[in-house]
Amino acid sequence: MSKNSDIKIYEYDAVIVGAGLAGLAAAKELTEAGKKTAVITKLHPLRSHSGAAQGGINAALGKEDSTELHEFDTVKGSDYLADQDCVELMCSKAPETIRWAERMGAVFSRDEEGDIAIRPFGGQSKPRACYAKDRTGLTLLQTIYEQADRAGIEVFDEWYAGDLLYKDGKVSGVAAYNIKDSKPAIFNAKVTMFATGGHARAYRFNSNAHANTGDSLSIVARHGLPLEDMEFVQFHPSGLGGSGVLISEAARGEGGRLYNSEGERFMTKYAPNAMELASRDVVSRAIMEEVRQGRGVGKDGQSVNIDLTHLDPEIILTRLPELRELAIAFQGQDMLKEPIHISATAHYSMGGIPTNINCQVQKNVAGDLVEGFYAAGECSCVSVHGANRLGANSVLEALLFGRHAGENMVKALEEGIELRPATAADAETMLAEMNKIKTSNGSESVPKLREELQIGMTADAGVFRSKESLERQLKLIDELLVRFNNIRIDDKSNTFNTDLQEAIELGHMLEFSKFIVVGALKREESRGGHYREDFPERNDEKFMVHTYATMDKEHNISIEWGKVTPGKFEPMERKY
Ligand SMILES: Cc1cc2nc3c(=O)[nH]c(=O)nc-3n(C[C@H](O)[C@H](O)[C@H](O)COP(=O)(O)OP(=O)(O)OC[C@H]3O[C@@H](n4cnc5c(N)ncnc54)[C@H](O)[C@@H]3O)c2cc1C
Repeated sequence: MSKNSDIKIYEYDAVIVGAGLAGLAAAKELTEAGKKTAVITKLHPLRSHSGAAQGGINAALGKEDSTELHEFDTVKGSDYLADQDCVELMCSKAPETIRWAERMGAVFSRDEEGDIAIRPFGGQSKPRACYAKDRTGLTLLQTIYEQADRAGIEVFDEWYAGDLLYKDGKVSGVAAYNIKDSKPAIFNAKVTMFATGGHARAYRFNSNAHANTGDSLSIVARHGLPLEDMEFVQFHPSGLGGSGVLISEAARGEGGRLYNSEGERFMTKYAPNAMELASRDVVSRAIMEEVRQGRGVGKDGQSVNIDLTHLDPEIILTRLPELRELAIAFQGQDMLKEPIHISATAHYSMGGIPTNINCQVQKNVAGDLVEGFYAAGECSCVSVHGANRLGANSVLEALLFGRHAGENMVKALEEGIELRPATAADAETMLAEMNKIKTSNGSESVPKLREELQIGMTADAGVFRSKESLERQLKLIDELLVRFNNIRIDDKSNTFNTDLQEAIELGHMLEFSKFIVVGALKREESRGGHYREDFPERNDEKFMVHTYATMDKEHNISIEWGKVTPGKFEPMERKY
């Protein structure tokens, strides 16, 4: 490992960790405003999970649609836990965001009149998901990367951010290392932003990329800063039966129907009006309930069928080509000819790093701000999704709030921020962690511990939860945290040491998973993606609140409850 004197110190106006839609949108704004900006990313930007988004991005562009309806659907979908000022900002700026992306060069699919095509998605009263075939995220990511690159962003790709430089309520950059040779560096900055994406890899059955290990959550939490609403994890109704790989909601949007082993179109029982297009939490629970009652399909009876064979093949071939290819590749099932086996898969993280409406990170439940620190996209909790996100609202959130964070950072820089000088000592925490892992000679294997965590999360902190199952998972995580101190890493080299990186990531996963489980235990109600079998009703009197959780050095977690920002929509019972 490097001696302190080897550590390079870079100086920037802005440092952004993450090169998905949120990070790149912010970086583009900053660079175009003449601010010296570095983007640190453990993957090449175009491999960020944003590129996997298939189905669409919401904006009220339809003739019968309105911003207010988009807001209403979002707030209702959130089970009334979203902050309504943030929802209003997102929905009102959505049409302009689409035009902005289009002007940059994003090619959206068109309808017969040549307007941007829109398709129906779950939980929405009107069709409003704009799309580029079923490759919406990739189209947007390529476009924004191209434009950010043209503006002159500096990208440190295949660099791993390991620690936040946080002192006296102020953030002044990050410590990171180059994955190629393990050499550390300090990125000293006037403003710092986290845009590190989601964390559903903590689950065995999930739709996320391997990199979605939620690193920034525990990096933030290790400094005693809070995480918000972590118990709210979204389970998407249509993961491919064996793998969890996503079949986008576009499959239901275009008319896909769900059947159990008895050939019953079972959504008639659970959401008689919206049917397959009820919101994701409702459809996921319906699928898992059918499976639990023995009406599942597939080898192990753990899936249900989605049938698209009644659709005009042209629709599948032109609007869902990638979904078809995925089902053929992973399951040998061709949706043109037969139904596809699907099951609920861990997909999206509603909770994350708490921010105010301007993407500034909050340091406590009272909403006091950390100086110089911003977050946007899936790792943040602003909160526009509350307890459940609507399909196609997340690419919108990443792009729109990423850009908004960029604009706010430009403003803050122009008002004047002093650079707090960094020293090599600022990398000590990260270096100590790397060193401990690289010199570990215990008996536990990292993949094995990770698998135990993931199996437990899916079984006991998944679609259905109870006090008993959550306490079981909490006990398991505490044991895994102890066993993690006794791991063994065989690769001791400095070159592309993926053993080292995976061990660091597992440390993060164990810690933020504990936030999910403790939050779920304390929230004795059912709301959105969080369903407690022992408390099946929503309890507004007690739990119409955000969860703010903090962790001490011994991994004990304390919870406080924070206010939800109300607005024009009064809470009602959620029916579809
Ligand atoms: C299969 C799939 C399909 C989806 N489809 C849709 C859809 O149709 N519509 C919709 O609205 N939403 C969809 N979503 C959700 C949506 O795509 C994401 O929520 C959104 O794109 C997240 O963007 P982001 O910029 O926050 O993060 P990401 O795009 O995930 O980027 C995260 C970045 O952080 C970097 N990073 C993370 N940790 C570190 C670290 N320690 N050091 C350095 N870099 C780090 C990564 O390298 C990466 O560049 C889908 C998600 C999945 C998984």
